Amino acid sequence: MDFEPLAIDGLQLDRPLVIAGPCSAETEQQVLETARGLARAGIKIFRAGIWKPRTKPGGFEGVGVPGLAWLNKVREQTGMKVATEVANRGHVEAALEYGIDLIWIGARTTANPFAMQEIADVLRESGKDISVLVKNPVNPDLELWVGALERLYNAGIRRLGVIHRGFSSYGPSAYRNHPHWRIPLELRIRYPKLPIICDPSHIGGKRELIASLSQQALDMGFDGLIVESHCDPDCAWSDRSQQVTPEVLSLILDNLVYRDAPVPADSLVTLRRKIDQLDNDLLEILAKRMNVSREIGRYKMRHNMPVVQAGRYGDIMTSRILAARAQGMSEDFMRAVLSAIHEESVRIQVELSRESVENEEGEEK
Ligand code: PEP
Ligand code: MN
Repeated sequence: MDFEPLAIDGLQLDRPLVIAGPCSAETEQQVLETARGLARAGIKIFRAGIWKPRTKPGGFEGVGVPGLAWLNKVREQTGMKVATEVANRGHVEAALEYGIDLIWIGARTTANPFAMQEIADVLRESGKDISVLVKNPVNPDLELWVGALERLYNAGIRRLGVIHRGFSSYGPSAYRNHPHWRIPLELRIRYPKLPIICDPSHIGGKRELIASLSQQALDMGFDGLIVESHCDPDCAWSDRSQQVTPEVLSLILDNLVYRDAPVPADSLVTLRRKIDQLDNDLLEILAKRMNVSREIGRYKMRHNMPVVQAGRYGDIMTSRILAARAQGMSEDFMRAVLSAIHEESVRIQVELSRESVENEEGEEK
């Protein structure tokens, strides 16, 4: 896919691209008050959800079409461009009719190929050259994300970008949606021209995490941010714990470090060499560890012990996580590394015991 730059009215969008606004348009007054604050903070693109996909029925499902007229007022009164989420043919038709400048596809819609095809078809029929941002699907599936982009691309939409909003997971987590940074970075490697925008609000689920997640995204070379902002966050009708006032957003944005300066090529080469060397060391250590696991596996077999001993695994996790934290590494990271190593050790040991059963059966015959 050969993408073209995101643009509104033919004008290319600046980098870093910052989009901000409430999770949901609630009332005309809330939309306009938030928009005025954001315009004062220098934001150029206003977001608001008009149709809200809710996990369960009974929640606030958005104000629908009347909200589009409020977005037009935002444009008239502040000069900001306006963006909203679309999830089906009717939404796209209404958004185009009201001249919405930019549309995005929500995470639940990206995960649904039928809905994506419907949206691609209606965009093709409209013949409009609108920029479209595609949020990652709720599940950590890069191919599903790429598939959604391909459907739009095949319908002639070239001005495409993506929004990284994190991925659902089960069980306790520091995030509302786990970032799995590897996935957007893989997308960057595959499609270097595709703009990637980070949504720290939906990743963190908490306003305290917006600044650090935004900085992480910028450090990784993301092209922009989409942040939820509300004139009175604690009274928001949806996602209240992750929204900030326009004033707080302005402070957050002022404190971010935008790393646009080109990195001197020679120092980058040196640093990359160091990384290559360290990766080699890591591989050797891992191979040694797996050999010890194999020996332990043989011991367990001789003594008729089960492969997995939950107590031992728990002790390893606890002590290594403590040690990792002391060295400035996150608990989530260490947990992921240890569980991958443990899984491989178990696989090796199970394979050993299967081989030994097969040998014994052979001897008996
Ligand atoms: C949103 O941006 O308000 C939204 C519904 O996001 P997501 O699709 O990422 O859950
Ligand atoms: Mn939201």
